[in-house]
Amino acid sequence: MSQTTAPDGDEPTEEDPPPLPVPDPITFLPAMYYAAVVRDDNTACVNYARTFDVPELYSNAGSPNVVCGRCRQPMTIMSATLLDPQPEVS
Ligand SMILES: [Zn+2]
Repeated sequence: MSQTTAPDGDEPTEEDPPPLPVPDPITFLPAMYYAAVVRDDNTACVNYARTFDVPELYSNAGSPNVVCGRCRQPMTIMSATLLDPQPEVS
């Protein structure tokens, strides 16, 4: 009697959710408005992995901050486009 051993394979584990893709870093000009798409990376949040449009994102000193309206955690900026023309600030 011979014993057959199945070859080792990469069996998927179902314990960990697949990691979300990390966007390329974005360089922001300071004090400008961007149209951005942001994502919630907080696994504990109902918005996890959802993306949101931010039509007017202010870049502050070159590092804009976006927080989730639900969990108040910083959101990941997926993409951003410099608004042209810049919106009027009154
Ligand atoms: Zn959230």
